Amino acid sequence: MTKNFWKEKKPQEFTSEEWESICTRCGKCCQIKLEDEDNGDIFYTDLVCRYFDHETCCCSQYENRCTLVPTCLKLTPENWNTIPWIPQDCAYNILNKTGNLPEWHPLVSGQPLPSERSVKGKVVSENLVPEDEWEDHIIEDEDD
Ligand code: SF4
Ligand code: SF4
Repeated sequence: MTKNFWKEKKPQEFTSEEWESICTRCGKCCQIKLEDEDNGDIFYTDLVCRYFDHETCCCSQYENRCTLVPTCLKLTPENWNTIPWIPQDCAYNILNKTGNLPEWHPLVSGQPLPSERSVKGKVVSENLVPEDEWEDHIIEDEDD
């Protein structure tokens, strides 16, 4: 990959490897979100998709994810700046808003993602909580 490619190219010009490397595997897009039926507000919870691998912080069904979970977020260079509920901390969201990656991003720091920026160890599988209790799992925002 070219050094600082995200500053030199448009997302549509990224190679697939470059595009994938923007993702920090933070897991925030796999958190269960609830929508207020009255006004459409979105609330993040500390619950996570049943296919989330808690060890690797990756999807255990990556190839079939959009079939298994129709609401699964599949970011592409075509839709990446159109998702209203994209996590604030998502590296794609930050790149879209600032044109750059933050200093904590592994491509910038050369270090793994700081643990406080990952959901690892902070979320519970949706399978373990009855759906009528999901509201009790709402958190203030996805960074909590
Ligand atoms: S929120 Fe963004 S950076 Fe984090 S895992 Fe999802 S797509 Fe990757
Ligand atoms: S299917 Fe995979 S990528 Fe999609 S929300 Fe679930 S764990 Fe995340």
